[in-house]
Amino acid sequence: MKELEDAIRKYGIGLGNDVVKVDMFLNHRIDTSLLMKMGETFADEFREDAPTLVLTVEASGIAMAVAAAAHLGNIPVLFAKKSATVVQTENMLQAQVYSFTHKTQNTIRVNRDYLPQGSRVLIIDDFLANGEATQGMIELCRQVGAEVVGIGIAVEKGFQDGGKKLREAGYKLRSMAIIDAIDDGKFVFREQ
Ligand code: 5GP
Repeated sequence: MKELEDAIRKYGIGLGNDVVKVDMFLNHRIDTSLLMKMGETFADEFREDAPTLVLTVEASGIAMAVAAAAHLGNIPVLFAKKSATVVQTENMLQAQVYSFTHKTQNTIRVNRDYLPQGSRVLIIDDFLANGEATQGMIELCRQVGAEVVGIGIAVEKGFQDGGKKLREAGYKLRSMAIIDAIDDGKFVFREQ
C-alpha cells in the first residue's frame, strides 16, 4: 500500500538492521487518515472470505483491527490480552508467545465465550517478524475450532521468516508493506 510505504519512508526509523519504529503514525501517535485507509484496504482484501470476527493482540493491533472490522460490516473485534486481571480468571483460552521486541515469553488470553466455535476469523496485527504473535492467535482459534480465514499485517519484515512459514502453511496472508532490508537506516520494500 503506497500510502503506508510513504509514511514508513518519511517517518519510520530503522533501529539497527532488524527493528522498525513507526511510533509517529501507527504505534504511539496514530495517523487516523492512514489508519482508516488501511482498514478499508484490509476489508477489500478479505471481504470475499466472509470473516465474522477480527482477532488481534493488544495494544498496537486494536486500532487497525477496528478500522478493518468497521469496513467489513461492523463485525466484532476481539483483542487478546497480555496480562491476567482479577476480573478475568475463568474461561480464558491461553497461548504462549515469545516477544521479538521485548525478548520475553508472554501468555496471550481471550475469553472463550467471545471466540465461538465456527467463527471465521481474520487476524490483524501491526508487525509480522517471526510470526510468534500470529501463531499464538492461530493457536487460540485452534483450541475452540474457529477457522482462520485470513491474516492481515501492516508491516511484514521479509528478512524474518514469519511470513514465509504462514504462506507455506497455506494461510491467506496480506501485508500492506513488506520490508526486505534495513540498509543504513533506509528501508528496502518488496514489490507486490
Ligand atoms: P512476531 O511475533 O511476528 O515475531 O513479531 C510481531 C510482534 O512483535 C508484533 O505484534 C509487534 O508488536 C512486535 N514487533 C516485531 N517486530 C517489530 C518491529 O520491528 N517494530 C515494532 N514496532 N514492533 C515489532
